[in-house]
Amino acid sequence: MIIAVDGPTASGKGTIAKALASHFGLPHLDTGLLYRAAGYQCALNGGDVNNEEDALAGCDFPDDLLSNPELRSEATGGLASRASAHPAVRQALYERQRAFATQPGGAVLDGRDIGTVIAPEADIKLFITASVEARAMRRWLEMTGREIEIPLAEIEQDIVRRDDRDINRKDAPLRAAPDARILDTTRLNKEQAIAAAIEAAESAAKALR
Ligand code: C5P
Repeated sequence: MIIAVDGPTASGKGTIAKALASHFGLPHLDTGLLYRAAGYQCALNGGDVNNEEDALAGCDFPDDLLSNPELRSEATGGLASRASAHPAVRQALYERQRAFATQPGGAVLDGRDIGTVIAPEADIKLFITASVEARAMRRWLEMTGREIEIPLAEIEQDIVRRDDRDINRKDAPLRAAPDARILDTTRLNKEQAIAAAIEAAESAAKALR
């Protein structure tokens, strides 16, 4: 069974995907981490993520980079969002994601284009959304918890910019697959969002049986 979890930045899709993976006993891939690694490696190489060739060279990152905590920073998120707009970068990271999705027994993948491009045949597709304000507040609380001081307004602006790039890029733009179930988590806390996603996935799974 393949479960695709897509949605914009800080919508809660990563938390939801992890919970679904544990609920259904499936392996999970956070595909955003691959784009983050590509953007970060490009910067390490001294390249410019806005340049397609430089960004493509960043896709040749060592596997141990994936566990570097720097990948989780806002700055790396910005690099990832720019790198991911290049078709050559998306193509370079496609096979790895596709192989993960189609492994025997199935998998859960979260990202932007899992239900539309990576695994359009996914058995269950969820599209997680939340208002910009709610997403910014979650990110801010998370960062404050890690003792990173950043004004809420700055996070909000960054989210708007990243949404704009993800939605308006030509190749694999962020959008819900026509057969995805939409889950708006604006008014839900973490536990409620997980419960709602499990309920939606279980009902989709029942329909398959
Ligand atoms: O999900 P996360 O915030 O870690 O993703 C970082 C960036 O990578 C996103 O802003 C998006 O531009 C890009 N991305 C993508 N396709 C995916 C996953 C992430 O374009 N499947």
